[in-house]
Amino acid sequence: MRRFLFVCCLAAALLTAWTGGDAARAGMLSLTFDDGLVSVHAHAFPILKKYGIPATTGIIAARLKNGDDDFMNVAQVRELAQGGWEVASHGLTHKRPVDIPEGYAQEPLKNCRRVKGSHDVFEVKYDYEDLAGLTEDGRRLKELDNEKDVKNTPGSYHFDELIGEVVFRPLDPDDVEDGSIRAVSYQREMEESREVLAELGFPARTYITPHNYWTTHMRDLSRSLYDQVVTGGDDGNFPGRTDRWWIKRHVVHTADPVQAIIDLTQKVVMDQDGWLVLCLHGVGDDVGWEPWSAQNLEALAVWLKKNGVEVVTISEGVRRFFGDKSIPRGNG
Ligand SMILES: [Zn+2]
Repeated sequence: MRRFLFVCCLAAALLTAWTGGDAARAGMLSLTFDDGLVSVHAHAFPILKKYGIPATTGIIAARLKNGDDDFMNVAQVRELAQGGWEVASHGLTHKRPVDIPEGYAQEPLKNCRRVKGSHDVFEVKYDYEDLAGLTEDGRRLKELDNEKDVKNTPGSYHFDELIGEVVFRPLDPDDVEDGSIRAVSYQREMEESREVLAELGFPARTYITPHNYWTTHMRDLSRSLYDQVVTGGDDGNFPGRTDRWWIKRHVVHTADPVQAIIDLTQKVVMDQDGWLVLCLHGVGDDVGWEPWSAQNLEALAVWLKKNGVEVVTISEGVRRFFGDKSIPRGNG
């Protein structure tokens, strides 16, 4: 009996150590690079690789397919993924949830009317600051620069943000009546960006909010689409106080000297045993929002290595922080 009890206790202890022993473990750092700028591949990746440090990159899905030289292409992102980086979604077109319709229910354009003197061109008042795209019966319409071109192009639209009006020429005028002309919502941005990335071979399980803008409603919607969400907040994450779909990041600005980031890491990761997530953009050139110098990043990498700071991707950080074994590592 005593022997049986001992075995049971031992089994229980082992089970605890194995399943939840490192639950709520903190004391680590994550580096995130938003927007998928080409300088991340050119500078940040080789610098961090030299010190064996992984990172996470937030990709704007529509930009990845556009062939814009300022942004990484599929092959470059794949190189990062193969080098141990995590590829996260950073939206489809990088919009704020308050600037476009929130969800699928708010997408249909109402009260469309024919433009005077035209049979197949329509105009409609649009109530939001920004337009992420227009669809007709599930098909994307093409955005054009002016109203005149729209009149000559079936399946196109033009958004005049000054007067908040959309002019469009549908593929089939009958589609206008039944509400199948829709403005892309934030919910669609979250879902389609994930699908686009998955099709390109990057099954993203992490969402990085564009502009570090987040709302409780979007947090609730994101739970069925992503395993975790990181946003802004300029704070560290601490066990018992962190929402998995609202993980905070500290923004690194161009003018921040490396010592300021080292001091912050020392405080949050080493002194307070927290999880610090840094939000960076481009590295080593002027392109994009708040780029940081390659010298700064290298000096940080040297310090992290020298001090044995645990640096993890977001997925890996979440796995350790919440003690969750079901979350896959990286993009594997
Ligand atoms: Zn961004």
